[in-house]
Amino acid sequence: MTATRDVLVVAERVRGRLIAPVFELLTLGRALLAHNGGRLHVALAGDGVQQDARELIARGADRVYVADDPALAEYQPDLWLPVLEKIARLAPSAAILVPHTHVGTDLAPRLAFRLGAAVATGCVDMAYDENRLRATRTCYGGNAHEAVVFKTDSMVATVRAGLFEPAVSDPNRTGELISAAVDFAALTRTTTVTSRERSQSDAVRLEDAKVVIAGGRGLACAEGFELLQQLARELNGAVGASRVPCDIGWCPHSMQIGLTGKTVAPALYVAVGISGAGHHMAGCARARTIVAINTDPDAAIYQDAHLGIVADYRLVIPALIESIRRLRAAAGRG
Ligand code: FAD
Repeated sequence: MTATRDVLVVAERVRGRLIAPVFELLTLGRALLAHNGGRLHVALAGDGVQQDARELIARGADRVYVADDPALAEYQPDLWLPVLEKIARLAPSAAILVPHTHVGTDLAPRLAFRLGAAVATGCVDMAYDENRLRATRTCYGGNAHEAVVFKTDSMVATVRAGLFEPAVSDPNRTGELISAAVDFAALTRTTTVTSRERSQSDAVRLEDAKVVIAGGRGLACAEGFELLQQLARELNGAVGASRVPCDIGWCPHSMQIGLTGKTVAPALYVAVGISGAGHHMAGCARARTIVAINTDPDAAIYQDAHLGIVADYRLVIPALIESIRRLRAAAGRG
């Protein structure tokens, strides 16, 4: 690959819509280009994506490479990789930015291998240090940061969500749409997806929620999460978890927040029965307000929380739900 300063963002859609981390990567991409110029490319694969391509240009893309095909409606590595490899070769870039999602973390190393590029996953920042691109990641359970530099001209990075402001839309912006069709019939496929199951299909997505209620081992049982769901519904929020309840099986791993889970940055994060280990806080430390509910007044979570309630969650959560309903009824929005 040639030495270039261009940046390529890999777009991801969920349920037919671009996800917010893509817009955050456009902001990061623009910040990298501000250093000494270059173009911001976006790779967009999916079914019926023309409107999204225009949205990406409005939010800062100079060129959107579009692979619009019913076969690309859902992520399948055998189909997506040749598409993205083709786009990456059409738009040689110093940095290929991928959202740090389940899809992104599956895709990034495979794409890097095909391109002969370096890969860094779980990045929390990227910047030019003199003329060298440097990625920052958390290490030691979220207690320290490490800087990573690359020996290859091009590198692939997955970047955690909630770290950059989403790029703002300007409908007057112009850019290029470039078709990047691939002949799938000629491909050898090694895997076939036979079925897909979506969890929490009608709930607010954890990564997009303005309010997150997260439960930990202190809930003591799966039923505790039903109580958290009730509170989340009152606040139009989403429910997350520490790793322990996911490992035990009280809730799915898709709800895990932390170093090896999702990163969230809501306006309000309520940590219920969570001790506040660095591994967990790495995923929620950017929440604007953290409220902890924990029976142990010495729990580490109180060092990070802006507000704390030292009490049993089984008493606190129903009381909160009751108060919210009462206040809403009093305000005539019952
Ligand atoms: P605990 O530490 O057991 O805390 C439970 C808390 O509940 C306690 O503070 C207790 O006082 C409180 N409590 C008990 N009863 C009640 C009650 N009735 N009402 C209110 N409070 C109550 N963890 C993550 O969360 N996310 C990650 O991504 C992650 N990645 C990891 C990666 C690695 C490599 C490793 C080694 C660990 C990782 N962990 C992760 C695990 C992490 O280190 C902690 O073990 C975990 O976060 C602890 O979960 P917890 O706070 O739910 O449980």
